[in-house]
Amino acid sequence: MSRLSRLLTCLALPGTVISLHAESIDYSTRARQLVSQMTLEEKASLTSGKDFWSTKPIERLGFPSIFMTDGPHGLRKAAGANIAESVPATCFPTASALASSWNPDLVREVGAALGDECQANDVQILLGPGTNMKRSPLGGRNFEYYSEDPLLAGKMAAALIGGVQSRGVGTSLKHFAANNQESERMISNSIVDERTLREIYLPAFEIAVREGAPWSVMCSYNQLNGVPVSQNFLLLDQILRKQWGFGGIVVSDWGAVSDRVAGIKAGLNLEMPSSMGRTDAQIVAAVRAGQLSEARLDELVVDIVAVTLRAHEIHQSGAKFDPAAHESLARRAGGESIVLLKNRGELLPLNLTKRVRVAVIGEFARAPRYQGAGSSQVRPIQLDDLWTELKKLAGPEVELTYAAGYEADGATTDALVADAVKAARGADVALIVTGLPASYESEGFDRASIDLPDGHNRLITAVAAAQPRSAVVLMNGSAVAMPWATSVPAIVEGWLGGQAGGGALADVLSGNVNPSGKLSESFPVRLEDTPTYLNFPGRDGESIYGEGAFIGYRYYDTKKIAPLFPFGYGLSYTTFAYTSVHTDAVKVDDDQGTRVQVTVKNTGTRAGQEVVQLYVHERAPRVRRPERELRHFAKVALAPGAEQTVAFTLTRRDFAYWDSRIHDWAVKSGTFDVQVGGSSRDLPLTAALEVTAKHVVYPPLTRNSMLKAFTETPNGKKVYDEILQGALAGMGLGGELTGTPEEIATKKKTRAMITVFIEEMQAWKLVAASRGTVTEEKLAEWLKQANEQP
Ligand code: BGC
Repeated sequence: MSRLSRLLTCLALPGTVISLHAESIDYSTRARQLVSQMTLEEKASLTSGKDFWSTKPIERLGFPSIFMTDGPHGLRKAAGANIAESVPATCFPTASALASSWNPDLVREVGAALGDECQANDVQILLGPGTNMKRSPLGGRNFEYYSEDPLLAGKMAAALIGGVQSRGVGTSLKHFAANNQESERMISNSIVDERTLREIYLPAFEIAVREGAPWSVMCSYNQLNGVPVSQNFLLLDQILRKQWGFGGIVVSDWGAVSDRVAGIKAGLNLEMPSSMGRTDAQIVAAVRAGQLSEARLDELVVDIVAVTLRAHEIHQSGAKFDPAAHESLARRAGGESIVLLKNRGELLPLNLTKRVRVAVIGEFARAPRYQGAGSSQVRPIQLDDLWTELKKLAGPEVELTYAAGYEADGATTDALVADAVKAARGADVALIVTGLPASYESEGFDRASIDLPDGHNRLITAVAAAQPRSAVVLMNGSAVAMPWATSVPAIVEGWLGGQAGGGALADVLSGNVNPSGKLSESFPVRLEDTPTYLNFPGRDGESIYGEGAFIGYRYYDTKKIAPLFPFGYGLSYTTFAYTSVHTDAVKVDDDQGTRVQVTVKNTGTRAGQEVVQLYVHERAPRVRRPERELRHFAKVALAPGAEQTVAFTLTRRDFAYWDSRIHDWAVKSGTFDVQVGGSSRDLPLTAALEVTAKHVVYPPLTRNSMLKAFTETPNGKKVYDEILQGALAGMGLGGELTGTPEEIATKKKTRAMITVFIEEMQAWKLVAASRGTVTEEKLAEWLKQANEQP
């Protein structure tokens, strides 16, 4: 029996037998008992790391430490003291790619495989997934994040968490929150209004926490509205724990802590990496000086102990994983993530069983770009390249030629271009493999532009001019501009496809896999079109989220700006038709929920998968809302000619916006269009729904409320006319107007104008403006009546 098991046995209540089965154990109860035996110093010591990756043990109590490591798309476990060296691990496609599969089941499988690799390497918590929103295509870590849409990002994160944790390994959902630029990442203050925060920057975390229940959440480096996230009570305590029910530990991003005591008060359990005891001593001193309650410290330590107990009890020592099975999962995941952006004249797939000459152009075909740089960089177990994988799939009559086209840094030369053009001319079809070199996108800095290297653009233009049957294959972690898009017949977005990305691309190009990926982010025509063009990245310590809730397609659709390729878009080698949309009712109460059924048919000749997307549009919103918002999606596999009906349930939240006046979600009664289809810009079917909002909470009317605010509440409406007439009467414009028809007409016009003025005045001003007609007492009485909840 291990020391830990002995300790756990001692802590078991008399008469109970500890089962080592995870779910049957109340870790918190036992953690509390254990914490009650610790000294103040021991408790403080547990709130910061032992070294770069592990927590502190307490030898005296036989209490062990846990080991964490990056994430998110593979294991980056430092092999020794040198953190740049890590153990070989399967490098799965990065988050942008996985999200483009729109397949949470697949992402869950990837998560489970990651969990197995963690078990085999004695890792208790994987630092990921990252689910921050892609505010701008320039975001340096966009490759590590899922989407510009909170629902898609949240579902993907929840799936990955579910997969990893199903193997008895924890995750650390990061970087919470409003951490959307790499420039000045340690100090930047994200200035985000309440509604934008709730509608855009928090929901992906909320979905991941509620549905995935991660063991841990990593707080980000930045400040939010002036308060460092590592000491942000609103985020860490009120929202994360109280509103979303998070029960795990909050870990600081590495080095994110500036005031450790304030962090404990706010709800930050664990500081990483080690502070060499410095901040532990600050905590002890603060408790002794009465500046920090020991009970608060205890609460946070209990969480740490509970997670540690859980991690050890479900640890499978001696676990192994099957690298070949993970390689084939990585290839399958890569294949499902690839997005076919253009395929004029059905240039693709290539028929590699027949006689065909294919020129493969571009250094990335042999030395692929397959993951991003920074803390997520995995040392892959193996690395496949497109050139080799195509050769393996090609039949005996296929002639493959190669030309490098550009150098590793993306630059090209006349000679390289000339070679490539020659290869393309001598072939029946050219594949131009391009993208972003590693130095273009990384943790730690934002991209300078959305352009491919000049050398790549030059190469594409030259080859496409020489060979009309050219397909561009892209390897990049985030959106890029494609000035040549109209001059090439086919474009394939391969993302950063992980170690098996080369094979995954070969599968799609050869037709072994029918592409089913859809863009998880919009591709703009030019940087100037992007929603954050004037605000990104924030500089001098401030990042102003001036575009509000309008990021990604929410912006392009509302502003009617055509993107190069829209969110949710992607082609297949087959075709799909949306044949019907049906809601169970046409009139619903918002609290009831209603079912929507969508039927989709494979109208082509190949089996394929389609991502059915459902967006909601509110016809007459109270506040300015995005043109449409994704509310549901489902991926369906269909044989040629087959059709399937998918059911979604719309709930109150699907119609709601965040009402900053009442600090809560609110629905306005009215008509909502439920739009369905295969892309945010291709939604052939719509069903209208009359939604009645029940249990509306009205913000209280006060002396400072504008008069027009009275028209927005049922009881306010009842007194509104009386107030208005009172004010108009005081100005000689009340009641029935008298005089000649011309005089009456003039007075009517004046009254209409004055009414606009009056309606925008605070209620208390009417006392003065009405010259005694409206008294203080009368106003108080109206306010009382108006504020009775209906
Ligand atoms: C990154 C985190 C990462 C941590 C540990 C930080 O700089 O922001 O994503 O998990 O380092 O490597």
